[in-house]
Amino acid sequence: MAGLMSRVSVFLSVPKAGTQVLLKKKRLLQASAEALQPPLAAGEVEALEQACQRLADQLCDALNCVRVKVHILERRPHDKRGELHGLYEIKQSGMSQARIYVWMRTAKRQQLVAYKTFLRTLAHECCHHLDLTHYQLANSIHSSNFYKRESSLYKQWLGND
Ligand SMILES: [Zn+2]
Repeated sequence: MAGLMSRVSVFLSVPKAGTQVLLKKKRLLQASAEALQPPLAAGEVEALEQACQRLADQLCDALNCVRVKVHILERRPHDKRGELHGLYEIKQSGMSQARIYVWMRTAKRQQLVAYKTFLRTLAHECCHHLDLTHYQLANSIHSSNFYKRESSLYKQWLGND
């Protein structure tokens, strides 16, 4: 029985990676998402990074998964294919946490990124983290369900779900 019970509890504790991110504490997360706006509009990188870290921490805590370190950088890297908006770095040996990088200025004109674009990029990178921690997938790929989960998370952060 013990074996059966532990298998049942593992089954129950790992949610299926479907089209929605089932969020608790939405009000708290919405308030924290809104709090990104002033430092982004002002181009204050440190304050923005702190606000993003708070939102990411609350997301991970609400979903009972390990936290991720958020780094905000100034100008997007770019090449012929386009600009990099964000990046997720899987936790490797020697790293205390997985890392998310989001850039706050466009590559060419160095303009501040619009709030909704920035928030969607953060949601996208957080979804990579959730794939590997919350949903415990072997890898995180840009599947159609991945983009649906990204939209689900983004809309809930905006309060538009
Ligand atoms: Zn991606």
